[in-house]
Amino acid sequence: MRVAVVGAGITGVCVARELSRYRVEVHVFDAKPDVGWGVSKANTGLIHACYDDDPERFPVRAKACVEGNRMWRSLVEELSIPHSWDGSMVVGDEEDLPRLRELLRRGIRNGVPELRIVEARKLEPLIKGEYALYAPTAGQISPPQAVIAIAESAAINGVRFHLETEVKGIRVKSGEVEAIITNEGEVRVDAVVNAAGLKADEVAGMVGLPMEIRPRKGEYLIFDEDAGPKPSHIIFPVPSERSKGVVVTTEVSGHLMVGPNANDVQDKEDVSTTVEGLREVYGKASKLWPLPPMNKVIRSFAGLRPEPRGGDFILGRTEVGGFYNAAGMRSPGLTAAPAVGKELASMIAEDLELDRKLRWKAGRPLPVDGGGVVCRCNLVTSGRVRWAIERMRFLGVKTPSVDSVKFRTSATAGTCQGSFCRVHIARMLAEEYGVPLWQVTLKGKGSELGVGDVKALVI
Ligand SMILES: Cc1cc2nc3c(=O)[nH]c(=O)nc-3n(C[C@H](O)[C@H](O)[C@H](O)COP(=O)(O)OP(=O)(O)OC[C@H]3O[C@@H](n4cnc5c(N)ncnc54)[C@H](O)[C@@H]3O)c2cc1C
Repeated sequence: MRVAVVGAGITGVCVARELSRYRVEVHVFDAKPDVGWGVSKANTGLIHACYDDDPERFPVRAKACVEGNRMWRSLVEELSIPHSWDGSMVVGDEEDLPRLRELLRRGIRNGVPELRIVEARKLEPLIKGEYALYAPTAGQISPPQAVIAIAESAAINGVRFHLETEVKGIRVKSGEVEAIITNEGEVRVDAVVNAAGLKADEVAGMVGLPMEIRPRKGEYLIFDEDAGPKPSHIIFPVPSERSKGVVVTTEVSGHLMVGPNANDVQDKEDVSTTVEGLREVYGKASKLWPLPPMNKVIRSFAGLRPEPRGGDFILGRTEVGGFYNAAGMRSPGLTAAPAVGKELASMIAEDLELDRKLRWKAGRPLPVDGGGVVCRCNLVTSGRVRWAIERMRFLGVKTPSVDSVKFRTSATAGTCQGSFCRVHIARMLAEEYGVPLWQVTLKGKGSELGVGDVKALVI
């Protein structure tokens, strides 16, 4: 038996890891050069407490969020994923109290533990607001590192990753999936999981199923490590229908981060930031917290939410035999992913009558250090960079990219944003991959660091 998972974002890798507990061949396909380079790369990284998802309007989301939050607690320990359990505060004034109470009631219905309304400044003296809905179970992770850790764990348990491999079609015979067609050839399969993020509607279309996923952009600002003050909780405004609002948080790397806004766009590849968007983010965040000046910003970025029509996740069996959806994974999709993975894997195991493996490994190798410091901002050693490159090759990363090292080590993510260490990392990538330095890329094909050897150009 063989299962294909389309998409190596957080959803796809969670499904694959759970499937790896069964006696079945699991193949994960992703068009990008590394795992987690879709929506999962650029988001707030919060493990939500789950008071915000209305269980009547969005029952799948509400259930998976609470279960996912619970599962992340052991997952971060098992796989050494950087995390913090800071707790979140939805902050408001006297006039917001009815809305905070509504969220409290909803959270209690969803089964969120320890929720309560508090005097905000008793927990966060600098917060701009009188009251807050306090959720101690909210936390944060580094999303790209989480995807890598879960993918590695899946690979240790036999899952095969096919990167830079785009699924272009799915063959269906007598109402059952039979094969997937990729740019690398055709693979016969017994089941397909559609975990294709923003492109899940295209993948559903390959088996004739209608689906609509619209991109909704969110922009962020990250401040320098010494810029503060930094909150010790995750601070939210009162949420709206469209989003949970612009958040102020000290992310797991220790930097102050604000964002995201929520603007509908047309282009599913457009992750550019705009001056207006970043001003909006700064303006909204400064209503919650005293922000450092804009010249303390070291980086801005944007992510695209895969918004499904109707707003709820699209999960499970479909009318095409062997075709399963794990789609429409808008926020809180990161939080929900482990629960989604477990649910889909057990559904597929039941349908294909799979047996559980007798032996299954929970952990993954810990990073190694050694050699001189390469990234001076985040104190990353050359030993750590070589270890990252070895892990890239273990997962089947074909194109050497500085970003693949960044997401495994945090090198280039500090104050200087790689001005000092990028070239050293590129040299190590060139050596380990056996390619000329100029062929090393920043983030996959098309972003090569150069165009050729100087001598070759002169000739
Ligand atoms: C701005 C923003 C903030 C957010 N904040 C939070 C948060 O704080 N907490 C939270 O819980 N959630 C949050 N989310 C939601 C969360 O990020 C997503 O739910 C989650 O990352 C979706 O993961 P995914 O695996 O479904 O999609 P992706 O990560 O996009 O993975 C899908 C993969 O499929 C691949 N693919 C697509 N089509 C094909 C094809 N034909 N062939 C091969 N590969 C293909 C893509 O390359 C991609 O890598 C946020 C989202 C955004 C955008």
